[in-house]
Amino acid sequence: MSKALLKGLALTLKTFFRRPVTVQYPDEKRPVPERFRGRPALVAREDGLPRCVACGLCEKLCPSLCITVTAETGPGGIRALAHYRLDLNRCSFCGLCVEACPVEAIVMSDEYELAAAGREPLVCDAGRLLAAPGRAGEGRS
Ligand code: SF4
Ligand code: SF4
Repeated sequence: MSKALLKGLALTLKTFFRRPVTVQYPDEKRPVPERFRGRPALVAREDGLPRCVACGLCEKLCPSLCITVTAETGPGGIRALAHYRLDLNRCSFCGLCVEACPVEAIVMSDEYELAAAGREPLVCDAGRLLAAPGRAGEGRS
């Protein structure tokens, strides 16, 4: 038996007893890195409503034009959020909306499982954006 063949067999044997590195997704999930940017998520106030003050800065800065913010006049004549719409079909997960927000009302969550049958389920309103899992809501940028 040649030396090269023995070397190859030794390597195979060594690898055979090594702990597998394959992750059995989706049953097993790898932890996401600290600065991972998943789906944008709205942060909730203590009363459960979005912290967003409808200033529209994220809408203006978003390079993909995927955010639409509609304001209304709330109690006491204060500007309030009427509708928030984010089209994940267009989002590039750049995080600029998070940087633009003056009140830390939007964060990048850990959610990366965004597959959907069609485009419509990926158009999110404020209710769905509030429900993002992971570190959303902690003001992570
Ligand atoms: S992450 Fe970027 S592309 Fe996505 S909504 Fe925010 S600003 Fe727009
Ligand atoms: S920048 Fe912040 S406060 Fe202003 S509309 Fe966007 S999420 Fe709301």
